[in-house]
Amino acid sequence: MSELVTQLEELHTGALAALAQTQTTDETRAWHGDYLGRKGKLTTLLTGLGQLPREERPAVGKRANEIKLALEQALEERQAATAHDEMTAALSAEGIDVTLPGRRPLTGRYHPTTTAGREIVGIFQRMGFYVYDAPEVETDEMNFGLLNFAPGHPAREMQDTFFTTNPDVILRTHTSPGQIRAMREYAPEPIRVVLPGKCWRNEDVTARAEMMFYQVEGLAVGHNITFSDLKGVLLKFFNEMYGEGRKIRFRKSYFPFTEPSVEVDVDCVLCGGQGCRMCKYTGWLEIMGAGMVHPVVLQNGGYDPAVFSGWAFGMGIERQAILKRGIDDIRYFYDNDVRFLERVA
Ligand SMILES: [Zn+2]
Repeated sequence: MSELVTQLEELHTGALAALAQTQTTDETRAWHGDYLGRKGKLTTLLTGLGQLPREERPAVGKRANEIKLALEQALEERQAATAHDEMTAALSAEGIDVTLPGRRPLTGRYHPTTTAGREIVGIFQRMGFYVYDAPEVETDEMNFGLLNFAPGHPAREMQDTFFTTNPDVILRTHTSPGQIRAMREYAPEPIRVVLPGKCWRNEDVTARAEMMFYQVEGLAVGHNITFSDLKGVLLKFFNEMYGEGRKIRFRKSYFPFTEPSVEVDVDCVLCGGQGCRMCKYTGWLEIMGAGMVHPVVLQNGGYDPAVFSGWAFGMGIERQAILKRGIDDIRYFYDNDVRFLERVA
């Protein structure tokens, strides 16, 4: 047996031992280069075949070929095994652990203004009021004139207005023009309506005032509607909205469309009247304006003021959300800061 055959057998044994040490696809690829590649050990060894005596060449060549095939077969098996190991390792590293708690998907929720508005409207609906939808863009006549604001009357200055290019068409400054629309639609039938919606005033934005805000207006017109009815309905509202046992008080005020007019306060929902920062140590919270519908407004709505009487009130929705949820700045409402919206909704 020639020396070349001995070398071949040693290479075979050594190659198999080296292959058994490979752990990764990269290592098996490197092994292939070392032994079976164009400059590999087997190829290099076989260049010595030509120096053998002619009669020995076929037997040695045959053996060399068997070893080459055996090594290729062994490589294939090793590659399959390392690929399997690698996949198993990758799966256990990146796989899903079904015992972990899930991630909560982000869900939307109602804006605090929507929640408060629905709560307010719901209380009045349970008392027999129905919702009347009125336009957000109004004529000057509807927003002011028919509500008894005389032209040039200083009361107009109380509500700085956003005008359009048509000076008669404005963004409504309050929900009160809806009173005229509701009355004109239903007169001479008695009505009880609430009118929720957006309003605009061209004011500096502060912690207490936004340019855009929401109001709920209430209106009752009938044959024998009195100031006592107003007080009873509002007391019922406050007890539902802020908890039983509320006290309310009326302070005289002025609005062109009601006579007499009042500001309505409720005892502080935070301190119960003892005095605190929220009520500015007065024990009372200002909630809304109200009053008996002015005879001129009744007439403009289509009711005979000699036969009909009525009352109306209006309140800011954000103000109610502020009081119920302890928010201290109206500007948070429309900043679209999700952290705020998630906290209070
Ligand atoms: Zn208080």
